[in-house]
Amino acid sequence: MLTRKELTDALIAHGFWLPSNVPGVWGRTERFEVILEGFDSIVSDIARKAGAERVSFPPVIEREVIRNTGYMESFPELCGSIHSYREERGSHPDLIRQVEAGNDWTEFLEPMPVTLCPAACYPLYPTLSGSLPESGREIDLTSYVFRAEPSDDPARLQSFRMHENVRIGKPDAVKRWRDDWVERARDLLLSLGLETDLAVAADPFFGRGGKLLAANQIAEKLKIEISVPITSAEELTAVASFNYHGDKFGTTYGIALPDGDPAHTACIGFGLERVTLALIATHGTDVRIWPAQVREQLSL
Ligand code: ATP
Ligand code: ZN
Repeated sequence: MLTRKELTDALIAHGFWLPSNVPGVWGRTERFEVILEGFDSIVSDIARKAGAERVSFPPVIEREVIRNTGYMESFPELCGSIHSYREERGSHPDLIRQVEAGNDWTEFLEPMPVTLCPAACYPLYPTLSGSLPESGREIDLTSYVFRAEPSDDPARLQSFRMHENVRIGKPDAVKRWRDDWVERARDLLLSLGLETDLAVAADPFFGRGGKLLAANQIAEKLKIEISVPITSAEELTAVASFNYHGDKFGTTYGIALPDGDPAHTACIGFGLERVTLALIATHGTDVRIWPAQVREQLSL
């Protein structure tokens, strides 16, 4: 198994990635994208057959959603804020002087009403306010997301795509749907030759208070992760997560069951770059000699 550095070098040398000066930010070539899109399509097909509605959001989100969902309490160091120049903060010539002198120019910037989107499903919940149909809803969506976590691990990116499915409905139905997806995802990854490991997991909550949140998440089995080897056979990397939110979003956004109770929600998400990296790490950099059945599934 290649180390982090060896895999990164191989991705560039074999024409999958284009380098940049920022850790966790890479260009993707067609060679990489066809694998990623092959996997993305498989997930879309499963979602479509299950009756999910396909929606799409841009990779930004209303700042208020970040506030209402408690993101700044839980993950303040991951959030990507968006700022732009406004004249009230200083004159344009002064701004240019700072830029050209190589100095920091952020004093001239003002926060915009949007931030970068931290998870593909976040923009969805505010749109669901109101009463749900009897059987609830199921949504399929893919988006670029941002997390400020620079790393030399090629599998820890700052900007990457998440393919998520979200189920909104009655508690039992939502929980069952989440657990069924765990099995389905595991079968899918196994069929692509990936060795999977399943575990109850916790989000990387910030600070001391975060330890409690993480312990609760584990005790209640709110988050399950499927991990696979990418740059280490011992330290596996999560490629998919399966999250049960209870009535958190239902309450926050007034998403109601037909009887008026708040709806429960769950989301499942694949890290598309991570799945692609796992495939390359497992089957090698020459896609032409990957197992025929894997290439066929991915339409390669
Ligand atoms: P991790 O524990 O690795 O930090 P996470 O628990 O924060 O991940 P989720 O919020 O559950 O991840 O995100 C859903 C999926 O997105 C993960 O299962 C993973 O496949 C992918 N993912 C998360 N963070 C990154 C990242 N920095 N780079 C690439 N993919 C990621
Ligand atoms: Zn989600």
